[in-house]
Amino acid sequence: MAREVACKRCKAVTIGKVCPVCKSTDLSPDWSGIILIFDPAKSRVAATLDIILPHKYALKVA
Ligand SMILES: [Zn+2]
Repeated sequence: MAREVACKRCKAVTIGKVCPVCKSTDLSPDWSGIILIFDPAKSRVAATLDIILPHKYALKVA
């Protein structure tokens, strides 16, 4: 199974080489915590983390 990486810019978690959310290639394998955002507009957590798109995000990215 491919190791998941997290985007340093928006914290989205992906197994690809490019962030599916902000298209950044600045990805880190060193992250922790996971949060699923389904409806950013209604999520207080999403607002806190500046999340706009529904996706899987890391809580901390090193
Ligand atoms: Zn990103």
